[in-house]
Amino acid sequence: MYFFYDDLFLEHNPGAGHPENAGRLVAIMGRLQSQSWFGQLRGLSVRLAVDSEIKLNHSSQLIQALEQINKRGGGGIDSDTSLSAESLAAARLAAGAGLEACDRILQPQSDFRKALLLLRPPGHHARYDQAMGFYLFNNVAIAARYLLQSGIERAAILDWDVHHGNGTAESFYESDQILYASLHQYPAYPGTGAESERGRGQGLGFTLNIPMDAWSTDQHYKQAVLTRLLPRLIEFQPQVLLLSAGFDAHSRDPLADIQLSTGFYEWVTRVVEEAVTPFTGGRTISFLEGGYHHQSLAECVTEHAACLHAMDK
Ligand SMILES: [Zn+2]
Repeated sequence: MYFFYDDLFLEHNPGAGHPENAGRLVAIMGRLQSQSWFGQLRGLSVRLAVDSEIKLNHSSQLIQALEQINKRGGGGIDSDTSLSAESLAAARLAAGAGLEACDRILQPQSDFRKALLLLRPPGHHARYDQAMGFYLFNNVAIAARYLLQSGIERAAILDWDVHHGNGTAESFYESDQILYASLHQYPAYPGTGAESERGRGQGLGFTLNIPMDAWSTDQHYKQAVLTRLLPRLIEFQPQVLLLSAGFDAHSRDPLADIQLSTGFYEWVTRVVEEAVTPFTGGRTISFLEGGYHHQSLAECVTEHAACLHAMDK
């Protein structure tokens, strides 16, 4: 499996006491590096995404607005989204990691078919014209656009972050080439993600929102995955799977009320991979989104990573 992480991500600082802080990645890396298999992961060399690449999914105005804040050395966008001096560079590197991962897994002679990207700032709330919800650029949406530009005809985005990925959903609401499927606590931030939001025009039926009640457990999630998610994923036959992998549906997460166990993330990784591999050939890129209880986040990412790695040998 390919793997990407960079210390530049630690430099993005949205403010004292902010839940989306560098300690998240420090905790994840501390645990991953102690795994016996960590040395088997193959590093990616990644570049900062340039404007033309970010514009695959975002407006020039958004890039210019963030550049203006960056020139001032940082500043706020809304009550919970802000930039420090290195935030824009970190956001460009996070987007660039997705692009590089696409390039690598699309190569027929590639050693591996999977990539794990441990990124900050994450992306799934970022809209075409608006940074929000802690997030600046939508890393997974930029990658999905890049896949389509590279000749892929159908890619699925599975978003199991506890929050609905409103930015990603919006980007592909009228597309029948990207299936956006999300399990999320509902109602909750950001307010979108009702079951009735199913896409529009050509994209009707290519958005699958699976709202989950607060206090849902592994059992509820497993039933939803088996009876609703997997049948649609199999029907869609994606050529590549992109994961918006947030881990804030864990029972110990402070920002939401879902009660998943650490082991759930191994289970969902495995059953989803088993379902889509006949179509994807195993091509999966996992993008880190949320997850705010550091120890649980580190444990969940490790379960997820171990499973992906084991399935990419
Ligand atoms: Zn989240």
